Amino acid sequence: MATRRITTFDTTLRDGEQCEGVNLSLGDKLAIVRRLDEFGIDIIEGGFPASNPKDVAFFQEVAAMGLTHARIAAFGSTCKKGVAATDDLELADLLVCEAPVVTIVGKTWDAQVERALQTTLDENLRMIADSVAFLAAAGRQVVFDAEHFFDGYRANPSYALACIGAAVNAGAASIDLRETNGGRLPFEVEEITAAVVAAFPQASFGIHCHNDSGCAVANTLAAVRAGATQVQGTVNGIGERVGNTDLLTVIADLELKMGAECVGAHNLAQLTSVAHYVAELCNLSMPAHHPYTGASAFAHKGGLHASAIARFPEAYEHVSPAAVGNGTRMLVSELAGKASLLQKAASLGFDLEETGADVQAVLDDIKAREAAGFTYEVRLLDESQGTDAITRVTITTTDGTHTWGSVGVSENVIEASWNALVDALEYGLYLAARWLESVYRPFKREQRL
Ligand SMILES: [Zn+2]
Repeated sequence: MATRRITTFDTTLRDGEQCEGVNLSLGDKLAIVRRLDEFGIDIIEGGFPASNPKDVAFFQEVAAMGLTHARIAAFGSTCKKGVAATDDLELADLLVCEAPVVTIVGKTWDAQVERALQTTLDENLRMIADSVAFLAAAGRQVVFDAEHFFDGYRANPSYALACIGAAVNAGAASIDLRETNGGRLPFEVEEITAAVVAAFPQASFGIHCHNDSGCAVANTLAAVRAGATQVQGTVNGIGERVGNTDLLTVIADLELKMGAECVGAHNLAQLTSVAHYVAELCNLSMPAHHPYTGASAFAHKGGLHASAIARFPEAYEHVSPAAVGNGTRMLVSELAGKASLLQKAASLGFDLEETGADVQAVLDDIKAREAAGFTYEVRLLDESQGTDAITRVTITTTDGTHTWGSVGVSENVIEASWNALVDALEYGLYLAARWLESVYRPFKREQRL
């Protein structure tokens, strides 16, 4: 079966920046563009070219960046009611910014046209056709964003399709079907997308979803099944309300499970680093439980799971973590068995079997300590566990190369801190000893010769 190419359209810098708490500087935006370009995203939407000085500067600077793959899109809307596209100041701004791709949003829901826009259905069709034709004639790749399309189709399918027809006939390169309110479910999105694709077999369709029903990724995949060939979303799904489609999850699903190609297997291994890089620039913490890219995405805690993973990874991992640049992690806890303890120790550089350590005694010690309030996983500092009388101190230590965590637990904060500090220093000394050994081992061999 031939690989199906699905193009990717990232709107982290435009729709994603609507996310509460996210405010990207010009430097942040340019850094994200650079990273997404390296990752292989096809189109990166930068923002409104006339909305503020930061976005004006963005389009000037990004034009000089020399991107290797991605095309930059500017975002705007159709011309205003009663105004010809040639006289519309916002459309003029879209051309002045010189972005090769222009996305313009227009209404496709009859009630929105009459109640929100307060114009006639015919005038809305004129606005769509006039705007698309104007931008296409200027040499731009025009993406028509069909706002509220799925709600519009449910209310008045013939009018919603007429809006799409106006954009297609005027020269739009692709039509972006928007699930603006985020309330539709996958079977509805699949059914409606299939109907639109059938009505316009020569046109290209994209899909843009929001996650209000928790279905943004599922809805996007459903639209692809029905014939959409472009997926829109944001890195980590950031966006207004509960967020947009997580474009990275969609890319991994399409590449690893649906036989499609978006960025290619080689670039897919950057998925986790892209997710963390953008989260950091957005000043957001990366959720540990995030699909594919979270720290816990391939973490195993139960003893039976951990021992099975060592022999048969597919038993509890739906894909290879390496395919998305993540890794398997064994969590040591009171649920752990000997196998997971041995693997965890090995990952820290200890061969417990070689040293003849009493593994069962170590496990018993872990269980006793967990009962006392210690934890040995990836744990957020603001989580609470145990009684209020117990103080848990966690310390992160680095020697400039390695970083490790330690924990101390006691009813006394000084003692808890002391215990965490001692463990941190002991492990640091162990690393230093191992380094010294690696330096001196060749020297000793030479001496013997
Ligand atoms: Zn949106």
